[in-house]
Amino acid sequence: MASKPTAGQSTLSIWGGEQEHELYERSTQVPVVHSVSYTYKDIDTWQDVALEKAPGHIYSRNTNPTVRAFEDKVKELEGADAATSFASGMAAISNVLATFLKPGDRIVSIKDSYGGTNKIFNDFLPPLNIDVCLCETTDYAQIEVEIAKGCQLLYLETPTNPTIKIIDIERLSAAAKKVGALVVVDNTFATPINQNPLQLGADIVLHSASKYLGGHADALGGVICGSRELVKQVYHYREINGATLSPMDAYSFIRGMKTLKLRVERQNESALKIAQWLQQHPMIEQVNYPGLESHPNHDVAKRQMRGYGGMLSFAVKGGLDAIKIFLPKLQYAHMAANLGCVETVVGPPVTTSHVECSAAERAAAGIPEGMVRYSTGIEDVEDLLADLEQALSHL
Ligand SMILES: *Cc1c(COP(=O)(O)O)cnc(C)c1O
Repeated sequence: MASKPTAGQSTLSIWGGEQEHELYERSTQVPVVHSVSYTYKDIDTWQDVALEKAPGHIYSRNTNPTVRAFEDKVKELEGADAATSFASGMAAISNVLATFLKPGDRIVSIKDSYGGTNKIFNDFLPPLNIDVCLCETTDYAQIEVEIAKGCQLLYLETPTNPTIKIIDIERLSAAAKKVGALVVVDNTFATPINQNPLQLGADIVLHSASKYLGGHADALGGVICGSRELVKQVYHYREINGATLSPMDAYSFIRGMKTLKLRVERQNESALKIAQWLQQHPMIEQVNYPGLESHPNHDVAKRQMRGYGGMLSFAVKGGLDAIKIFLPKLQYAHMAANLGCVETVVGPPVTTSHVECSAAERAAAGIPEGMVRYSTGIEDVEDLLADLEQALSHL
């Protein structure tokens, strides 16, 4: 399922998916093919392509050359045999779940999954008679117990949003294998640069490409990778329900991904420095970053990640009142709901991931009212630190 990468990650993020394609009129860049359909001069060739006996494209809801180049790029970075893409990260997640789950099935997952994913688990799967078991995110032993009771699918996400908890992918994948369950991992926060879940035993890895893969917060999309057989099943579901990635967004991802490794390496470095700096600041109560030795699952992160990522969260003393003063003072950060782009982006869970929860529910989820989710950009880290210093000085 997981094949060995053929070159370094920066090389793959630049050349991946681009060498096998016939480029239009000798252009060096992948063209944006806006065509809805593809024309054939004879019926036999048309039929062969339609039956997937010969390479080519029929209709862009199914496949498209620009979209294919993006999929192949991600596939190579994840060391996978196949990939397919979607109109958004949530489309990727819901298509995977809809492909592999049927009434009567049981899914095991974690409490700290992405807000939209959590909504599917709590609101949309139970009416379909699918039993959803959401475990304490880092209670690996309890998750193993729930897996052993029998399930068809284990759904994981690590690091988590916004609590930045770490799941042991290898350990839980092994437990899932024993009961024949499929393992799906949302790798959006880590990116393929920092973590390759397929190499740790997962069957399907998925991304919201809207975040790090694109990296410029200007395109929405999702992508999954895995074995040919599994990806084909999800692809056939998606081509019919129509949650297809647009060629223009695929192009934005292709361009964004050429700098993926450069960006992520910078973000890894800067986030660690910022986390260490925040940890000693008198106005900060708690810093969540897997690269800190104080992180409860630092050892797991160290084993399964090549870098600790650009995402961190921290709690400011004084709660919501304090962050209402502090966040707007930041000069080099958008207050916004997205993450993973070149600009630093900040947002409190009270307006982003956990906006629909009560204060009590957030407290139960380990999210203090003064928590800030910080998506480190690629600005000079000295400027980001000085900016945090001046903004915190207003408290
Ligand atoms: C943003 C995000 C998603 C959803 O992706 P969209 O492209 O916004 O639909 C899923 N998982 C994680 C971890 C995310 O950060």
